[in-house]
Amino acid sequence: MPFSEAVDSRVILTRLREAMAEPGEGQERLDRIVKLIARGLVAEVCSVYLRREDLSLELCATEGLNPEAVHTTRLAPGQGLVGRIAESAEPIRTRDAAHTHGFRFLPETGEEIYSSFLGVPIQRLGEVLGVLVVQNRTEREYSDDEIYALEVVAMVIAEMAELGAFVGPGPMEIARPHGRPFFVRGLVGQEGVAEGRVVLHEPQIVISQPISDDPALECARLRTALEALRAEVDEMLGAEYLATAGEHRDVLNAYRMFANDKGWVMRMEASIESGLAAEVAVEKEQSATRARMSRIADPYLRERLHDFDDLANRLLRLLAGTAAPQGRDLPDDAILVARNIGPAELLDYGRKLSGVVLEEGSVGSHAAIVARALAIPLVIHARRITREAQGGDHILVDGDQGVVHLRPEETVAKAFREKVDMLHEAQAAYVALRDKPARTRDGVTLALHMNAGLIADLPSLPKCGAIGVGLFRTELQFLVRSTVPRRADLAALYARILDSAGEKPVVFRTLDIGSDKVLPYMRRNDEPNPALGWRAIRVGLDRPGIMRMQVQALLRGARGRPLQIMYPFVAEAEEFEEARELTLRELAREQALGHRVPAGLKIGAMLETPSLAFAPDRFFEQVDFLSIGGNDLKQFFFAADRENELVRRRYDMLSASFLAFIEQIVARCAGHGTPLSYCGEDAGRPVDAVGLAAMGLRSLSMRPASIGPVKALLRQVDLEAVRAVIEAGRARGLATVRPMLEEYLRDRGILV
Ligand code: PEP
Ligand code: MG
Repeated sequence: MPFSEAVDSRVILTRLREAMAEPGEGQERLDRIVKLIARGLVAEVCSVYLRREDLSLELCATEGLNPEAVHTTRLAPGQGLVGRIAESAEPIRTRDAAHTHGFRFLPETGEEIYSSFLGVPIQRLGEVLGVLVVQNRTEREYSDDEIYALEVVAMVIAEMAELGAFVGPGPMEIARPHGRPFFVRGLVGQEGVAEGRVVLHEPQIVISQPISDDPALECARLRTALEALRAEVDEMLGAEYLATAGEHRDVLNAYRMFANDKGWVMRMEASIESGLAAEVAVEKEQSATRARMSRIADPYLRERLHDFDDLANRLLRLLAGTAAPQGRDLPDDAILVARNIGPAELLDYGRKLSGVVLEEGSVGSHAAIVARALAIPLVIHARRITREAQGGDHILVDGDQGVVHLRPEETVAKAFREKVDMLHEAQAAYVALRDKPARTRDGVTLALHMNAGLIADLPSLPKCGAIGVGLFRTELQFLVRSTVPRRADLAALYARILDSAGEKPVVFRTLDIGSDKVLPYMRRNDEPNPALGWRAIRVGLDRPGIMRMQVQALLRGARGRPLQIMYPFVAEAEEFEEARELTLRELAREQALGHRVPAGLKIGAMLETPSLAFAPDRFFEQVDFLSIGGNDLKQFFFAADRENELVRRRYDMLSASFLAFIEQIVARCAGHGTPLSYCGEDAGRPVDAVGLAAMGLRSLSMRPASIGPVKALLRQVDLEAVRAVIEAGRARGLATVRPMLEEYLRDRGILV
């Protein structure tokens, strides 16, 4: 009987299902499987290699090779034909294995008598779990049909492995899915530590029946799901707010194209015809896409393949009838694991989360902004985390170091808990300081304010001991919606913020969009350098509609109380003057309309561009207050992108040059009696805060969690002495005074 005619994957799959239903441990199951595949494919050898933790491939079952080699033979990644298959996630077929590139002779297996070789990866969602091989003595050319049949069988083995079907005592522990500890070093998105249980943003679909004997029914299920998918995409495209949004529309148009891609659908139908359940047929395509994705360097093409992958995920969920989790019952210690997440979705989980781990994301992404506002630790760029993590897994998130331990060993968990305990102890000490002033030993009192961006932040105000909100970032309410917020809604929100703050002052910063913060309903201009581009006040002045609406909402939200408005990213006095005039015009208009106006309106600016420090004197006289936005100021001062990991930590706030610049700003403000504060992230780092105080700053605004540590350190220092240390460092020509300052503080036991 010619080999190719014998191939009917459906027959093999039916036998496979019967074999799986019989009782037995993992090893017995695998032994039965290799036998029946060998029989079904008329091969003298069939072997299964499974991947170990060190990525080597272990021979776990064989029909035809020396049984003694089972659990003894191992191949390193890339080694031999089996290693090459695992590495490339591509099949290899040859009629003369011994003379094929990469062949490695394994004497213990007795394979030298087999000439032809066909191996395929056992992969699930792009992750290679092992390799399935058949071999024959004669030199034969395996056909495309035979490769296809073996791939289909390998898909089913992968699904079974995912269900833990091959786990057994001793060496078969290797087959336990997602059982081993997994460590990943990502990047810091937001500091903080958390221990908890994994909640997957997109729960994995568990396929309990990978084989189907009713292709007609499976094809009908696939068609129904595809129709629902196309309807979903059309609905998204029809959404009103997308009518003008360029980039989103492009992505969705690409989705629509993919959802109607005939080749994709035909390949899935062919898989179903060969005996797979519809879900596995989708996953088979998804695995191929992911394998392609890992080989493609072109970012645009990768992005498109990503879209395709997203679409396949949607299709899988539609087939399995599971919606993405919403407004959920989360455990107390929930740690969200996602590939990426939008700001609205993250807000939806809200404070119920103890931490977030993202496989992608960026420091300035909206999700990172929300995580910061929610003050929950966030690790981004955690590679492979969504593939490794299972719902309910034990997980440790160290947002300070940017690392994640999944299913940690007990020793790791213990060390982590010690760190958390220490932090808690320190927190308790900070609570005791809450109502005490931030007064240094030599009697200088600093005003410590908190930064906020959500109404949900306000309860922190009395708890952390801040004397007010020094920076309320207003863009989140604009970013999380698909349309421009309504003035009345914004006014109500601003009123609630002021209500929650009670007597404590709040500085509202007007919309700071552009650069990394892009509104979904605003046409996006492709700018070569968005951080230096059309952003913040520049947008507001060029398109004053939204800015006027926001100012009106602020004036109304004040409901007769004092109001402070701050304009971001002012580079020149004229820009501030224009914004100030606009604000005063709106105030007059409100008055003319008979609305209640704020009891005292202060209009300030953020100093985020070096140029503003050199503005004419009249600016310092006109502006009611100034706040140094150190995050931006530093990036422009050093010409180092605050979002670029390669450079963002390169320059120090305590560098002599930056301190000298701060000192100049302090002097100019002092000369004109302009109130000055500092609201960049550095203000919340205790040693940096001490440095700023030594340069003459008397008001700092920071994340609520930083108030305690900053206050604790300030209360122990003598600012004159700190200043002397900084002067000494400068006199020595040091680039940064940090080491000297830290040493000084450590020597006095102030810093641990
Ligand atoms: C800053 O630039 O320091 C600042 C506080 O503004 P943002 O971080 O929102 O740009
Ligand atoms: Mg800024």
